[in-house]
Amino acid sequence: MPPIPIKRREVLLKQITAANRLDLVKTLLTARGHIEDRMMRAARNKTFATVRRIREGIYKDIQTEYVALQGNLDEWTKRSIRKTAKVFHGLSVEDLNLMDGDKAVIGFTKFSKKHLDDYFSRIHPFNAEKMAAVNVQMNPQLTRMLDTDVRALQRATVEAFREAQVAGMTSQERYKLLQGKVMDYADNPQSWAFIDRTGKKWSKGNYFNMLNRTVSANVARDSYNDTLISEDRDLVQIIGGVGSNSNEGCRAYDGRVVSLTGNTAGFPTLQDYIDAGGFHPNCVHTTVYVSDKFERGQRLIAEQEGEPKPVIEKPVSIAKTSTKKADAPNTNNQAPISKTEPKPEINKKNKQDSVEKTNKALANKETELAKVTNISSQRYIDEDVVDEKRKNKDYDVMVSPTFNIDGDPVRVILDGHHSMRAAELDGVKPVYIEQSTRESDKIALLEKGDIESFLESTWMDSDWYNVSTGKDYF
Ligand SMILES: [Zn+2]
Repeated sequence: MPPIPIKRREVLLKQITAANRLDLVKTLLTARGHIEDRMMRAARNKTFATVRRIREGIYKDIQTEYVALQGNLDEWTKRSIRKTAKVFHGLSVEDLNLMDGDKAVIGFTKFSKKHLDDYFSRIHPFNAEKMAAVNVQMNPQLTRMLDTDVRALQRATVEAFREAQVAGMTSQERYKLLQGKVMDYADNPQSWAFIDRTGKKWSKGNYFNMLNRTVSANVARDSYNDTLISEDRDLVQIIGGVGSNSNEGCRAYDGRVVSLTGNTAGFPTLQDYIDAGGFHPNCVHTTVYVSDKFERGQRLIAEQEGEPKPVIEKPVSIAKTSTKKADAPNTNNQAPISKTEPKPEINKKNKQDSVEKTNKALANKETELAKVTNISSQRYIDEDVVDEKRKNKDYDVMVSPTFNIDGDPVRVILDGHHSMRAAELDGVKPVYIEQSTRESDKIALLEKGDIESFLESTWMDSDWYNVSTGKDYF
C-alpha cells in the first residue's frame, strides 16, 4: 500500500515556487533597469529642472515603464499558472492512478483550456477587468512605486533649487547639484528597496514575493482539486499538521475529510474549511485525495462520516494575522521523500560520437572555453552515486552549447553532476560533452534563442549557481 506522499507535495511546491520566483525576479530586474535608465536620462537633461514640460514628459516615460512592467507581470502570472497547474494536475492524475488504479480522463491540454483563464482572473481583482478589456487599472503596488519615484524626482528638483539659491550657485552649478541628486536616487531607488540590482537581495516580505507564493500555492491546490472534480472524485483530506501557532480553522480541520463540491453528504465542504480561515497566506495545508477503493481512504471515511462540522470559536481575521500565523513546520509521521534516482545514462553510441566531436571542438576553443561559466540548478548529490562514478572513472559531464547571459558566456550542466564531483575528488578534469538537439531536444530552445524557456526546461532543484564558486548565479 503506497503511503500518502505529503513530503513530495511539499517538495514539488517548493520547487515550482522557486522556479516561478526566478522568472519573476528576472521580469522585475528588466523593468528596474529600464526605469533607472529613464531617471539617468532625466539627470543628464539640462532642462529637466527648469522646463516643466520636460519634467512631465520624463514622469510619463517612467509611467510607461511601469505599465510595461504590469503587462510583463501578467505574462509571468500566466506562465507561472501554467507551469504550476501542469505539475499539480500531474500529481492528481498520479494519485488517482496510485489509489484507484484509474487513468484520468482529462489530459492537461483540456484541463488548462477549462481552468487556466479562471485561475488568472482570480489571482488579481484587476485581471477579470483586463480579460474583459475594460479600462485597465494599474496594480496598486506599481502605482505606489511610480508615485515614489516621481515624488523623489520632484523633491530632488525642489531641494536643488533651494540649496542653489542659499549658496548663490550659478545655473551650471545648480544643474550639477540636481544631476547628482537624481543619479543618487536612480542608483538606489527607494521604490525598489526590496531587491538589489543583481536580484540577490530579496526581502521575503515584499509584495512580489507574497504574490509569487500565493500564485504558486493557490494554483497548486486548485489544479489538484479541480482535476479530481473533473474525474468525478469528491473527497479529500486536509493535511499539513498543526503547530502551536496554527490558526483555529487549520487546527479544527487538520486531518478532516471534506467534500470538494458539497455533493457528498456527511462531510463538511472545502468551502467550510476556507470560511473557517483555511488556506490563509502562508498556510502549509493542502489536500490529498481520499479514495473509497483504497484502505486508508475507507478507514477515514468510516471514521469521519457524519461527524459534525468543526465549530470555530472566533473566526480569525485573516488579513491581520495571516503573516504571523504561519503554521508550524510539518512534523507528521509521513513517509520521507524517496531519494532522487540517478538519471539513466544516455545512449553510449551517441555519447561516443559526441566525445570525438567535442574533443576536436575543445582543442579549437580551449582559450575561449576557459572564460565560460558553468551553471547548474542541481545541488542534489548522492555520495553513493559519486563513489560508483569514481570506481568506474566516469567523469563524463553533459553540457549545453555555450550561450550568453548578459554578455557572459555560460553553459548549463545538463547531466553528470555526480561524475563532475567524482572528477573533482579524484583531481582530474571532467570530460565535458556538449549536447546537441540529437541528445536533448531542449537544446532546440537554445538554438531558437529562447534562453528563458531553455533554463526553465532544464531546471532541476535549486536556484541557478556558478558551479566553480558554488554561489548563486542570478
Ligand atoms: Zn493552515
